Amino acid sequence: MALDSKIPNGPIADKWTNYKDHINLVNPANKRNLDIIVVGTGLAGGSAAATLAELGYNVKAFCFQDSPRRAHSIAAQGGINAAKNYKGDGDSVYRLFYDTVKGGDYRAREANVHRLAEVSANIIDQCVAQGVPLAREYGGLLDNRSFGGTLVSRTFYAQGQTGQQLLLGAYSAMNRQIGRGKIKMYNRHEMLELVLIDGKARGVIARNLITGEIERHSAHAVVIGSGGYGNVFFLSTNAMGSNATAAWKIHKKGAYFANPCYTQIHPTCIPVSGDHQSKLTLMSESLRNDGRIWVPAKLEDAKAIREGKKKATDLAEVDRDYFLERRYPAFGNLVPRDVASRAAKERCDAGFGVNKTGEAVYLDFAAAIKRYGTEAAYVKGLDANDTKLVTKLGTEIVKSKYGNLFQMYYKIVDEDPYTSPMMIYPAVHYTMGGTWVDYNLMTTIPGCFSIGESNFSDHGANRLGASALMQGLADGYFVLPYTIGDYLAPDIKMGEISTDRPEFEEAEKSVKDLIANFMNNKGTHSVDHFHKKLGKIMWDKVGMARNEKGLNEAIVEIAALREEFYKDVRVPGTDKGFNQELEKAIRVADFLELGELFAKDALHRNESCGGHFREEYQTEEGEALRDDENFAYVAAWEYKGKPSDAVLHKEPLNYENIKLVQRSYK
Ligand SMILES: Cc1cc2nc3c(=O)[nH]c(=O)nc-3n(C[C@H](O)[C@H](O)[C@H](O)COP(=O)(O)OP(=O)(O)OC[C@H]3O[C@@H](n4cnc5c(N)ncnc54)[C@H](O)[C@@H]3O)c2cc1C
Repeated sequence: MALDSKIPNGPIADKWTNYKDHINLVNPANKRNLDIIVVGTGLAGGSAAATLAELGYNVKAFCFQDSPRRAHSIAAQGGINAAKNYKGDGDSVYRLFYDTVKGGDYRAREANVHRLAEVSANIIDQCVAQGVPLAREYGGLLDNRSFGGTLVSRTFYAQGQTGQQLLLGAYSAMNRQIGRGKIKMYNRHEMLELVLIDGKARGVIARNLITGEIERHSAHAVVIGSGGYGNVFFLSTNAMGSNATAAWKIHKKGAYFANPCYTQIHPTCIPVSGDHQSKLTLMSESLRNDGRIWVPAKLEDAKAIREGKKKATDLAEVDRDYFLERRYPAFGNLVPRDVASRAAKERCDAGFGVNKTGEAVYLDFAAAIKRYGTEAAYVKGLDANDTKLVTKLGTEIVKSKYGNLFQMYYKIVDEDPYTSPMMIYPAVHYTMGGTWVDYNLMTTIPGCFSIGESNFSDHGANRLGASALMQGLADGYFVLPYTIGDYLAPDIKMGEISTDRPEFEEAEKSVKDLIANFMNNKGTHSVDHFHKKLGKIMWDKVGMARNEKGLNEAIVEIAALREEFYKDVRVPGTDKGFNQELEKAIRVADFLELGELFAKDALHRNESCGGHFREEYQTEEGEALRDDENFAYVAAWEYKGKPSDAVLHKEPLNYENIKLVQRSYK
């Protein structure tokens, strides 16, 4: 099937407005005749479900947690971008658009990104109206801070809990509709199959995770907002439950999967401490506003620190290498994540790492504490030369900005980050790839939409910080509610769809067969055993730096591991009730297919861009080297029975408004 992105004609700044003026609408009375399934109630799904119900549609919403409040979105720390220019520092819709396209290393679709920048300001207004407590300045106006890859301050935040506060806003909006009977909420339900009728998405098969019952649910359209697939690496900053099953099931039913190899490795995570870990912790990018990243300038100092013979605070300024400030003077510590991560890895690979494993760099707040403390002393008319006083005042200010993050670090590492620098290292964080969608956010399956992190749409090969929340909420509050009406308009007289149809029967049977296979398998190894093995292959050969040899090996190893998994996995307990091992088995089965496609995608993309770094394609300074002539396209993969047979479709990326140049942050 040829890809049609359905990008409207006309100048980029007018596309969305003109498009909205001319699409089909469903009148309010007819919306009552239409059912929509929303899988996922994180920021994307939650905002979509609330808005669609407010508009009058009948919504059935699904999440596998016990409440929409516990979606992975709740973990988001640092903030959400919007082009409001509150700081008067030169921001605009165009600049947000430009920064996002450049940040994504020119691999995003221009029209979608411009629309995202246009609606960004509405998101903040919507959330403030809901009562989301975004941080304010002394005078009462909303405050902003800076994030990587930009030269302006446009990030709105709620200390280090922005996702939680935004999710409470979306959740409250949903609850109002649940109370009105317009949203039927299915907590602890996992969607395990998509039902197609005459080629259109008309329902899902879900497992009630408490009773084990397999249920059929029908609708006129299905929206997937199931989050990202970073847990294919086993260790990531994602919530433990985050998985790819919903996205992968629709892929197997005909939704193309785009750019699976575009994965973001976040530079500021607490380093891995050993084999026993099942989760990694993010230290928000907001910390790079004030924290300075460095390693010892001399190898002997790095060695002494690793051996516990010296401490970070023993090193004088001249003996420190602030490598981001050195390499990228214009953006300094606020370069985009892919650039910062690679630079940290380069220093550690060269022997300058500062923890026992040699895989950590410092994130240091001493300078910020001194700067803030001195300013506070002046403002209060106190002695700005009193070091103790300045440190006390500065510490209070840093605490007010990042207190919960510092506390989290202290609890995990047992070291006080106010007095000695944090140790950080890159970790898997976000997946820019996902189900391919057109301008309407519809996948290649008619009636099946994909929003938030589960689609591929706006971030190209690298996402700028604070842009995921913006995209999820843009999709859910402001884009999908328009575009889905255009699709549903012809269905207003269709009536309820029966779940007795053979298509439901068949889909239900495939789910039951899969579960029976796992329950009867009586293998010898746990699901985690296989998941860890997959994660190791992914990190070693498909991780921060990839090469042809490693990718070819990964493809073979993942396929072999998948075979072993089906033969030898052991799922204890019963399928007739709560069984988290069974839940995991179903999810890991999908990761084992997705991982292979991921490596195949990375292998075919003979260039480096954003989070996809192929060692063969780099500049003399070790920067990513794109090949615009041959790879300025979205790689959308069609499922053909197994990952190795997937067929590549290309959506050319036309940069009509932004000139394609090699990215620089110097
Ligand atoms: C630690 C951390 C900090 C972050 N901080 C920021 C930040 O400061 N700013 C920013 O912009 N971004 C941040 N991000 C990224 C951002 O949080 C996510 O990209 C975003 O929240 C994803 O939202 P979502 O709604 O698409 O998916 P999620 O929040 O992951 O929600 C997925 C939903 O789908 C449901 N689901 C999944 N599969 C199924 C299924 N098969 N059946 C039923 N339900 C299903 C889940 O139950 C859940 O409700 C951060 C990410 C992490 C990991």
